[in-house]
Amino acid sequence: MKDVFPRFPLLSGDTPLTPLANLAAELGIASLWIKRDDVTELACGGNKLRKLEYLLGQARSEGCDVVITGGSPQSNHARLTVAAANKAGMETWLCFAGDRLGKVQGNLLLDQLLGAQLFVTGAYGSDGLLEVMRKKALEAKRQGKKPYIIPVGGSTGRGDYGYVVAWHELERQRQQLGLPPFDEIYVAVGTGGTLAGLVIGRGQTQTPTRLCGISVWQGKERAERDVNRFIRHICEEINLTMDADIESSYVLFDQYIGRKYGTPSPAGNEAIRRLARSEGILADPIYTGKAFAGMLDQLAKVGNKDKRVLFWHTGGTPALFTHAASFELV
Ligand SMILES: *Cc1c(COP(=O)(O)O)cnc(C)c1O
Repeated sequence: MKDVFPRFPLLSGDTPLTPLANLAAELGIASLWIKRDDVTELACGGNKLRKLEYLLGQARSEGCDVVITGGSPQSNHARLTVAAANKAGMETWLCFAGDRLGKVQGNLLLDQLLGAQLFVTGAYGSDGLLEVMRKKALEAKRQGKKPYIIPVGGSTGRGDYGYVVAWHELERQRQQLGLPPFDEIYVAVGTGGTLAGLVIGRGQTQTPTRLCGISVWQGKERAERDVNRFIRHICEEINLTMDADIESSYVLFDQYIGRKYGTPSPAGNEAIRRLARSEGILADPIYTGKAFAGMLDQLAKVGNKDKRVLFWHTGGTPALFTHAASFELV
């Protein structure tokens, strides 16, 4: 697909699409594949780099020199923004939720190593943080800088466009390998921008694949409202007339969040262990482990043996170390 927006390249090629043959045999399904967006090459990798290619592309085309974003102190998005902005020759200011940073480990350690300016804001939620980021942008302007604000999770029409492009990458790889469409694709849902991008891409290629989002943060109703909102934002951004039935043309599960967002769940950690021991691949306890657990649970139901399934790995592995203690009990 030809790029319609300026892109600052952060991925040098397609991410691997590989079979999980051992697990497919264990589960007794026709096939299981994985799309490795966890091995995108900057600073431990992850899905946010696909969004950042277009966000930083825009920032650079507008002549900006400081990126302002935020999230929790253990945000993967924050870590990858600093890494990408360093490569683009821009400064990064990180606005963190809450009133303390917590232990310097995992993503926070990497933010420091990468040289971001860190701010503890006392604010909570995506909207609260966005307000703080706007204030910081005014401060940057007073210092003669040109700021570019990226909302929590990098989810804007422009950023999520990266996952429309990712969908087309998957389709190309699949066809090169001579594979028929997957019956189901599972992906973790945080803000919902990643799933929204995939839904738009699938609409464009009219591929008969069921997109299954495993929410790790919000209940089904809110998550669905957000995914639908991001679908509309992407359509506006790329001037696409939206099919009336594209909203909610995916499945969302909210029963795998565990106690709450940001806290590991026993099922998620068990799924991490299972993937690691059968395939040598690492998932994380906040996003991909829970999503993987959700997929395993869904596939354990009857009537799945002919299914051809893909798990879209979105990264997050630094959180394994932050939450090391959660693996000690089992
Ligand atoms: C941010 C993130 C997600 C969720 O992506 P959204 O676009 O916010 O839904 C999933 N997995 C990992 C590891 C992430 O860091």
